[in-house]
Amino acid sequence: MNVIRKNIMGRKRILVTGGAGFIGSHLCERLLNDGHEVLCVDNFFTGSRENIVHLLKNPYFEVIRHDITFPLYVEVDEIYNLACPASPVHYQHDPVQTTKTSVHGAINMLGLAKRIGAKIFQASTSEVYGDPEIHPQPESYWGNVNPIGRRSCYDEGKRCAETLFFDYHRQHGVKIKVARIFNTYGPRMHPDDGRVVSNFIVQAILSRPITIYGDGSQTRAFCYVEDLVDVIVQFMASEDSITGPLNIGNPAELTILDLAKKILEITGSESELLFRPLPSDDPRRRRPDISRARKLLGWEPTTSLEKGLEKTIQYFQKYLKAN
Ligand code: NAD
Ligand code: UDP
Ligand code: UDP
Repeated sequence: MNVIRKNIMGRKRILVTGGAGFIGSHLCERLLNDGHEVLCVDNFFTGSRENIVHLLKNPYFEVIRHDITFPLYVEVDEIYNLACPASPVHYQHDPVQTTKTSVHGAINMLGLAKRIGAKIFQASTSEVYGDPEIHPQPESYWGNVNPIGRRSCYDEGKRCAETLFFDYHRQHGVKIKVARIFNTYGPRMHPDDGRVVSNFIVQAILSRPITIYGDGSQTRAFCYVEDLVDVIVQFMASEDSITGPLNIGNPAELTILDLAKKILEITGSESELLFRPLPSDDPRRRRPDISRARKLLGWEPTTSLEKGLEKTIQYFQKYLKAN
């Protein structure tokens, strides 16, 4: 029985796993700004102290170094489960640990949610759709995932985590919120994590060649991190019947080649384009159908790609100067 409840000021105790990562650090900041108490749990595999150092002086912010594949006993009102490496380079570095984080991590966080009666959010992913045969992807699409490829540790791990969330919900009445997050970018992305936006921006700023995998005709749709955090918080606050899965992302789709050109234009860089082999199982196209989020939450991303890229580029210019 959870005895720690919202106090009379409306302040909740909120656990954010993966809170020292890219999205997690923005979420911690937002929840603190909303007046809540935040417990950040992270094993610092891909996250860093730098992402959260500015929050440490806040007396309502607490950090625990912990790997969620091991049990965790704390008392909170809400849990946001974001712990998991998200970039292909990082999640393929130790694929067994990636599956463990998604599956054992989900079991532990769901066991925790069940014991204390907390509502729990799961950061699932558009990767559950694999290399999609339906475009754009609605939540009703079951996906086209290779179960034994290099991306499978992440894709299948996240799919199994979704199964666990819905079974804990049906079997144990746990209150769940499952979001399928599409490509997200913004300040505090890891400069070396291999994701396309950070790679291209760093390469453009340092006048290094822009590495385009394949011919650059594959598509993605990119969401600015502040828009994403807005909808995550809104989703958590929605009525209990809204469990998801819910696609969240920005439906503005473009090719990877066009993304490179846009970044070159904004940075004024003269980096050349360097074409490299396409990694295996790289999805050809991806774009969220966000009608469900629009209808249920009235949510719409508001940051244009140009605006979001400008802010991200400014961040990396400062970061690269200082490091
Ligand atoms: P990130 O790598 O910056 O953050 C992940 C955080 O989890 C890091 O701080 C890392 O140290 C921590 N972590 C990893 N394994 C852990 C473990 N076993 N125990 C405790 N902490 C652990 O990635 P991100 O982009 O911030 O992604 C956050 C979440 O959102 C992930 O679950 C990811 O799958 C999901 N997601 C992100 C995107 C995106 O475009 N960024 C898209 C879809 C889904
Ligand atoms: N667990 C946890 N914190 C808690 C309660 C449970 O980390 O506060 C973990 C524990 O490791 C357990 C898992 O969550 O194995 C699943 O819990 P559940 O109650 O569903 O199953 P069981 O305890 O029967 O294995
Ligand atoms: N990509 C690229 N150059 C890079 C990094 C990535 O062309 O330096 C491509 C990658 O092959 C993929 C797309 O950009 O088609 C998005 O890659 P990312 O790793 O950011 O995310 P995901 O594949 O998980 O959507």
